Amino acid sequence: MNAEAPPTNCGACGRPLEQAPGGHRARYYCNATCRKAAWRGRASAWSWLEHNEPQIAAVPTKAPTGLPSPGKSTVNDVAETVCAAAAVCGELRRHGLAAPGLLAVKCYRVASALDAALAAEFGDLLR
Ligand SMILES: [Zn+2]
Repeated sequence: MNAEAPPTNCGACGRPLEQAPGGHRARYYCNATCRKAAWRGRASAWSWLEHNEPQIAAVPTKAPTGLPSPGKSTVNDVAETVCAAAAVCGELRRHGLAAPGLLAVKCYRVASALDAALAAEFGDLLR
């Protein structure tokens, strides 16, 4: 179940959207042309990112390996967690391009804030 209110305007052209009554899936675009245009826009934004910001577009290769136990938090554990957070940051940036509507904006904001915090506190570790 989608907890967010359905959009009131088309995500591509901005024209007002009518949602079908009766618990149907939310509409995000007014028609197939707008849906395809939005997809092309996201694909083009992603291509731009891959060419101009490859460090952001990179798919994280290091998956989180789990949290250390309460009694254990070595420098290596912290480094691993910081790397996992950087990977989450990359995922959020991708959602910032591909998620629908306001969700994309939220993902991008969180990614930017997390990125800034990681760079400020652990920048030397991430280089
Ligand atoms: Zn439209």
